Amino acid sequence: MTPEPITPHEFVEFETTNSSAAHNEWLYCIDPKFTKYRIMVSAFLSSNVFPTYRLDKFGTSLTSIFQDKEASPITFVSLASRLDLIEALLREGFISTNDTVLAYHCERCGVRVVKDGIHRLCKWVAEGTDREITVYQVSSKNWERAPVDMPNYCRCGK
Ligand SMILES: [Zn+2]
Repeated sequence: MTPEPITPHEFVEFETTNSSAAHNEWLYCIDPKFTKYRIMVSAFLSSNVFPTYRLDKFGTSLTSIFQDKEASPITFVSLASRLDLIEALLREGFISTNDTVLAYHCERCGVRVVKDGIHRLCKWVAEGTDREITVYQVSSKNWERAPVDMPNYCRCGK
């Protein structure tokens, strides 16, 4: 996997077309770097990778409400052993067949938050499918002012 630098324009075009989850939260990070790379699903998920859905306070369902202070982050790897949660998520509907994923990355603590491609990744995890995907990624060492999802995962500076 060799990350290839891309322009902010290419990233924004991809994000606007594909992601419905909090466009442009990266505008609040310091010195964003944009890359794109090919990687196997298993290798991608082996680092700290989270969906924007979190475990509710009862631990029985996933919530996409970023303001929920009692919800807790759960990695895709941990989700793999919670097929009940994955199946509920997949019942929400349409799963695109494209092979791209959009991720926000903190270079300090290493967390990655997937903003687009959550349902696809869950489906592959549930099936045990490993395949090559393209990740569009924005990285920064400082997400402290991010207002939406990132504060729920990156505790740097807190
Ligand atoms: Zn961090």
